[in-house]
Amino acid sequence: MFSRILVANRGEIALRIIRAAREMGIESVVAYSTADEGSEYLKLADRAICIGPGPAAQSYLNIPAIIAAAEVANVDAIHPGYGFLAENSHFAEVCRSCNIEFIGPSAESMKLLGDKVQCKQLARKHKVPTSPGSKGAVKSEEQALKIAHEIGYPVIVKAASGGGGRGMRVAHNDIALQSGMHSAISEAESAFGDGSVYIEKFLERARHVEVQIIGDKQGNIVHLFERDCTMQRRHQKLIEEAPCPVLDKETRDALCKAAARLCKAAGYYGAGTVEFLLDDDMNFYLMEVNTRVQVEHPVTEAITGIDIVKTGIKVAAGEELPFKQSDVKLNGCAIEARINAEDPQRDFAPQPGTLSRFKVPGGYGVRVDSHCYSGYRIPPNYDSMIAKLIVHQPTRGQAIACMKRSLGEMLIEPIKTTIPLHQRLMNNTNFVSGDVDIHFVERLLSADSK
Ligand code: ADP
Repeated sequence: MFSRILVANRGEIALRIIRAAREMGIESVVAYSTADEGSEYLKLADRAICIGPGPAAQSYLNIPAIIAAAEVANVDAIHPGYGFLAENSHFAEVCRSCNIEFIGPSAESMKLLGDKVQCKQLARKHKVPTSPGSKGAVKSEEQALKIAHEIGYPVIVKAASGGGGRGMRVAHNDIALQSGMHSAISEAESAFGDGSVYIEKFLERARHVEVQIIGDKQGNIVHLFERDCTMQRRHQKLIEEAPCPVLDKETRDALCKAAARLCKAAGYYGAGTVEFLLDDDMNFYLMEVNTRVQVEHPVTEAITGIDIVKTGIKVAAGEELPFKQSDVKLNGCAIEARINAEDPQRDFAPQPGTLSRFKVPGGYGVRVDSHCYSGYRIPPNYDSMIAKLIVHQPTRGQAIACMKRSLGEMLIEPIKTTIPLHQRLMNNTNFVSGDVDIHFVERLLSADSK
């Protein structure tokens, strides 16, 4: 096992990894930018090393600075968390070439699965359903129009290297497709340095359902069931739950097996997630694979009792998975609410500032993952997520009741957060009955402004 690891991330996920390392008897060294200087979570690591100024390009995305910190601290491995460099195969290669293990998959499987076009090709080869659309990258406007006419509108243009809901455009007709192509390409070029895009059928009433995978270097792959992340706005997840409330047993089985099959075909190890869209007829289509630990991993930890972060560290160190597929049991229902420092009334504008009060709920089945506290200053440089509230109960009804109670106890002042929106959604009859799709939250919010 590693004796010391570098945490190349910030905020709640850095703290999540620091805590796991401490419990495993591994020393942690956390990298931080000057914008995070003085944050309490840095004191919970064995050591903290400044890697640069606030802008992520100069710190959390700065590979030479991170490697220098890792060498100074003499670590055995680097944990990238999620976001920043977590899905950067070049970074994984650099780490390993410096004799530092990258806690994640091999650079090859990351490249293969991370490129959405190649990933869909691999899926088709292994009989994992994909939505109708282009077989590869779309090179010209004519080709785009031809595909759209074959599969029928609406279609979605997506960046091959896309992430975080960027580089996507929905088109309902030729004119929208032509302009959507151009804006998706330029957005993808500036955000990901890769302007390749592809087209697929846009499903109007679908749910987002994803499968948690974990594999070891010995070639074992196990799935940890699915999460439902249908409650989104602007293609970003707001509420995640496990299991998916509408899935029948056969579909669950087929979905989870398809995800494991795809990862096995890519020689995957570490924690990963295979994302699908699920339609009303229980057909599922692959969207993409995230080759890292995800924000919403705690709901899966709750229903399976498996610590995904610790298991990811163990397999990175070369240990065999400590459980088999038949050992993984689904227990109860877990829901996560992402608490973002945003004002839902003002189009989710970010709310940086100092927290005068930060009080979290507790009690049976309640977990809060957050790096915040009263007096914490939210830097303007990064993601607006400041806490994850996770509840786990025997049934979905009890989980919703527990979430409502917990949201009511949570006090964050003076900034605006997504708490009132979560409270509203927990009381919404469509959400409670499971009658929602990925556009549900946006329809609800746009109805308000009318
Ligand atoms: P990203 O990598 O940017 O997160 P994804 O491929 O995971 O992109 O898609 C993000 C979200 O966009 C999905 O959760 C879903 O809401 C929406 N989406 C993507 N593809 C489709 C599609 N074919 N039809 C309908 N919605 C889609």
